[in-house]
Amino acid sequence: MKHLLTSPAYKMACDQFDATAAFMNMPETLRERVKQPKRLVSVSLPVKMDSGEVIVYEGHRVQHHLTLGPTKGGLRYHPAVDLGEVAALAMWMSWKCALVDLPYGGAKGGVTVDPHKCSIGELERITRRYTSEMIPFIGPQTDVMAPDMGTNEQTMAWMMDTYSHQVGHAVPSIVTGKPVSIGGSLGRKEATGRGVAFCASRVIDHLNLPNDSRVIVQGFGNVGSYAAASMAKYGARIVGVSDLGGAVYNPKGLDLSALDDHVARTKNVAGFPGGDAISNEELLVQPCEVLIPAALDRVITEQNAGKLQCRILAEGANGPTTIEADNILRQRPEIFVIPDILCNSGGVIVSYFEWVQDLQSFFWNETEINDKLYRILGRTLETVLKEAKKHNIDNRTAALSLGIQKVVAGKTARGLFP
Ligand code: NAD
Repeated sequence: MKHLLTSPAYKMACDQFDATAAFMNMPETLRERVKQPKRLVSVSLPVKMDSGEVIVYEGHRVQHHLTLGPTKGGLRYHPAVDLGEVAALAMWMSWKCALVDLPYGGAKGGVTVDPHKCSIGELERITRRYTSEMIPFIGPQTDVMAPDMGTNEQTMAWMMDTYSHQVGHAVPSIVTGKPVSIGGSLGRKEATGRGVAFCASRVIDHLNLPNDSRVIVQGFGNVGSYAAASMAKYGARIVGVSDLGGAVYNPKGLDLSALDDHVARTKNVAGFPGGDAISNEELLVQPCEVLIPAALDRVITEQNAGKLQCRILAEGANGPTTIEADNILRQRPEIFVIPDILCNSGGVIVSYFEWVQDLQSFFWNETEINDKLYRILGRTLETVLKEAKKHNIDNRTAALSLGIQKVVAGKTARGLFP
């Protein structure tokens, strides 16, 4: 898929794969089979806006591999969405699902739209139109979507409803991350952030850092806000947060419940009186023990990697660290990187629990869900650390090689088709 290589995100995912495949001594003939996305679907979505005007949006879905089960991955609404970015995110989902032993291939979807500029009615029409166009390609045993940047529980409810209308009965297992009232799972909304915090707190212990470690979070949406809340429960101090509208910083610690009230009222962290205004770029390089990027990809770059003052980089976002930044971080062993495919895997793990609960129509309580989640994360973190130590490699290469190896094993066992 050479045409996708014009996308920086897709090129980055391919470069990461190529470096890992080289470390694994993967035969050249196998590399393209494992790397290339299996299916790419692009659709045009004519949608009537509140003004009466019709806007034709662009939507995509990429299913990276079909070897181990249905594909699984989020749906993103963002103005920068393109097919290459979606393909990169689908590839990362493949390695993530395999790393944590879920019976899925990776997928991702997206619509090129700024959701903050749309009314709720417009978002509903965009979502229902996108779902209709995707019906031939999705299904509980084919491809299951979930929320990502710019989408949420309500988006998933519209998708589930549109699909269910089409087939004539309620199909909760068509999406995960939907409201509990229609078959969503307890703990799904919080799962990604909780998982990030669980991994970070384990590494805080591993490195003998203080319990009241300072935490900076970039992005205060689903992942960032729940990661901050969970870190605070572990005893950490949240000293800085940012979102699209700006950043606030207070080295003594931000009052999270007052910040939540401020965000609920104003929709932004900017202007919060309990901290000082600071630019988003500056926030990333303030001193802290834990830095959690939880917004966009490619935000830790060659420009700022050398200036980071954290001890742990806990990657809540997908693909936050560029290849060039990774090279710099390899020369900075004082910074412990928890790679995205491990650090933010709590979301897809509890999405898997949601899918299983929907298929069996039997639901678990939140304690059972969190216990199962933390057991998988704890085990995977240990495996990644052991692998990194055994081969003297960085944590990202260790995590990627473990995930990729499982996909290779599946493809080798099944043959050329999937
Ligand atoms: P979201 O839309 O709920 O929140 C995104 C947040 O990032 C918002 O607060 C937004 O204002 C902020 N943001 C956007 N651009 C920014 C910038 N330039 N600087 C600072 N903040 C900025 O999205 P989310 O679901 O929390 O996803 C965040 C990241 O986590 C994405 O990379 C996503 O792929 C990844 N992720 C999400 C999940 C999930 O379950 N939602 C699971 C795994 C990974």
